[in-house]
Amino acid sequence: MIAPDFDYDAVTRDMPEARVMRGEAYAAKGWVDLVEIAPTGVLAHVTGERGLTYVVEVAARDASDARCTCPDFEDSGLRCKHVVATVFRVLDADDAELETAAGRLARLTDMLEMEGRDDAALLVDRARRDPALLRELEGEPVG
Ligand SMILES: [Zn+2]
Repeated sequence: MIAPDFDYDAVTRDMPEARVMRGEAYAAKGWVDLVEIAPTGVLAHVTGERGLTYVVEVAARDASDARCTCPDFEDSGLRCKHVVATVFRVLDADDAELETAAGRLARLTDMLEMEGRDDAALLVDRARRDPALLRELEGEPVG
């Protein structure tokens, strides 16, 4: 198994329907960028209505271990629409997409090392939680 075996009903249980629908819409619009996937958890960058990108981490089948950098989550600690979007996106992805996401950071590290960046591992680790840096590293090879 590549990704966590999420139980969508458990993830969205007791959640206002509007929040679930917004999360699903974010996923459908392609606003979820899967950065890191392992059987134990997922890290994604999710862009919201105002163009701000949040860092979302989800572990556990029912997403009981989830974090998001959005104000909603930071205020309430409750699973937000970005968590829903991330889980929905993972469940909607095919194996090839999951494989691509699972190997993404390793490929980026290799690429930077081939370009002679001796801080590659450090940069990539920082980019996990820095959407702008990740885009820059993937989009504009330095060298
Ligand atoms: Zn959020």
